[in-house]
Amino acid sequence: MANFCKSCGSELKGPLEAYEAFEGMHWLCFHYAFEHYSDDPDVPCQSRHCPTWHIEILKEALIARGEDPDKIINDAIELSWSKSLKAKQSNGVSSFLQKGLSKVFK
Ligand SMILES: [Zn+2]
Ligand SMILES: [Zn+2]
Repeated sequence: MANFCKSCGSELKGPLEAYEAFEGMHWLCFHYAFEHYSDDPDVPCQSRHCPTWHIEILKEALIARGEDPDKIINDAIELSWSKSLKAKQSNGVSSFLQKGLSKVFK
């Protein structure tokens, strides 16, 4: 029988025991439901487990190493789109749609 997150309602993929410590929620959902000390999920809170803070830390570390976090994310998005476009092409998407998509994602 499937189990569902008590916060977001999505299915819990792992064994239920793995979610006991998080009140039957995803780890991310649990943090934003009970631990996040900010009204805004985009604003990091003081918890050392805060995913929003972790993203900020990782971005700052990349910038300190001379990398551009936005470029890394955009490259990953393009790679993901080109993979799904190739999968769609092999599934017979119309050439009209392929031309349109290749203009957007070149
Ligand atoms: Zn959830
Ligand atoms: Zn937080």
